[in-house]
Amino acid sequence: MATDPVPTASSMRLDGGHPALDLVNTVHAEVDGTVVHDVLRTPQDVVVLAHRLGLVAADHPTGEAALADARSLRDALTDVLTDIAPDAVAVVQQHHRAAMNAARLVRSGDVFEHRWAADEHTPVHRWAVAAVDLLTGPDLTRVHRCDGCNWLFVDRSRGTGRRWCSMVDCGTTAKKRRYVQRRRERRGGRGNPDV
Ligand SMILES: [Zn+2]
Repeated sequence: MATDPVPTASSMRLDGGHPALDLVNTVHAEVDGTVVHDVLRTPQDVVVLAHRLGLVAADHPTGEAALADARSLRDALTDVLTDIAPDAVAVVQQHHRAAMNAARLVRSGDVFEHRWAADEHTPVHRWAVAAVDLLTGPDLTRVHRCDGCNWLFVDRSRGTGRRWCSMVDCGTTAKKRRYVQRRRERRGGRGNPDV
């Protein structure tokens, strides 16, 4: 096999439109919730993904605690966003509180910003802040589930709204599927097997 079809932290599509949703989308699951594949398998996966999202440097330190925390935040946020367990917002808040406790306010130009020491918890701190930004901001009402792959994404389009996380991948696949189905329906709809 020349290519590995299983997505990894370095190859998975980042179509969530928000860093907190790209974290949620590291789990590939069936519609009934059965987990098929988890992109976050090692501590290094946390840094690779966080780096791709612009949250930390590529050589940021990592460890087993970072992996456990990233999964804990991800699973709680998933439960909140999909209404599986809205009470899980308390876990999201715990991660956010830990992030605020570890943060320093540092002047950056004309404003102040939160900064964290370069330890293994920083990616999860940044994701926790992003998660609360999502839950408290205008993007929350624009979170949709992709018709093709079940991933969550922010729909910032105007008008009818997007149905797929990515037109190139899921949109095209869904359109092909519908095309085949329409052809099948047309053939089946003639009512006369001799035609
Ligand atoms: Zn999709």
